Amino acid sequence: MGLNEAQVLRFSRHVLLREVGGRGQERLLAATVVVAGAGPVGQAAAVYLASHGVGRLRVAGGEGALEESDLQAAPLAARPSIGVRSESQAEGRSPGRNWPSAFDALAQAVRRADPEVRVEAVSGALDLGAADALLVAGLREAEAGPLLEAARREGRTAVLALAARYAAAVAVLPAGGACHRCLGLRMEAGWPGEGGWPFGVAAGLAGALAAVEVTKAVLGMGGTAGAAAGRAARGRLLLFEVDGLTLEERDLEPRGDCPACGGGGPTPGASPCG
Ligand SMILES: [Zn+2]
Repeated sequence: MGLNEAQVLRFSRHVLLREVGGRGQERLLAATVVVAGAGPVGQAAAVYLASHGVGRLRVAGGEGALEESDLQAAPLAARPSIGVRSESQAEGRSPGRNWPSAFDALAQAVRRADPEVRVEAVSGALDLGAADALLVAGLREAEAGPLLEAARREGRTAVLALAARYAAAVAVLPAGGACHRCLGLRMEAGWPGEGGWPFGVAAGLAGALAAVEVTKAVLGMGGTAGAAAGRAARGRLLLFEVDGLTLEERDLEPRGDCPACGGGGPTPGASPCG
């Protein structure tokens, strides 16, 4: 297909990178990424994915209206929404009504980053078959778990990004490796909404780090020994704690008693051969 003149200019700095190049940029432009979660983590990831030139984002979630208190963690996406308050809100009546949804805020931010990117809202079952990568962003464990299980069953690698309190966590979960149950994420912060709302920048960090891993997954970077510059965090967890400015890297190992990835028996509902 090849990049057109405008694309060569737009992505010239990527094209100069050995690990991306013109071919890699073409892959990004042709890629579809499913982003499950349109909150602050998903918004930050989506903006970076759009700026990288990912062609199509299918976004699940984010139907609920934004609230004033969301702005602390979502400056990229939510700020323009301040300007769309209705008159009744400006007059102090019906506070909270008529704010855009989190999805709309995400879509606005993505269009600012690159109007060429297609952003679609998806509801119901996610079609991972048509996606080049799955990002599960900022969801509670009860919502994230079934999506990550579905990715495993389909043999797909998933990127999981979480932010809670002062922690930003990103995990790359290959289908044949440790599952989300084995993350050891009973970290102090816990899963989002379960251990507390994120300190503002923690959500942005989780989203930005996740965008790196999703981009690498689309490009096929990493996963091979010695490819230092392109080493993807496959089967790995990065845990950034902004309060102490610490970064922890953890190899993810299946727990022996895990029913999904260890020796604890097949996943309920999963095909024994899957
Ligand atoms: Zn497991």
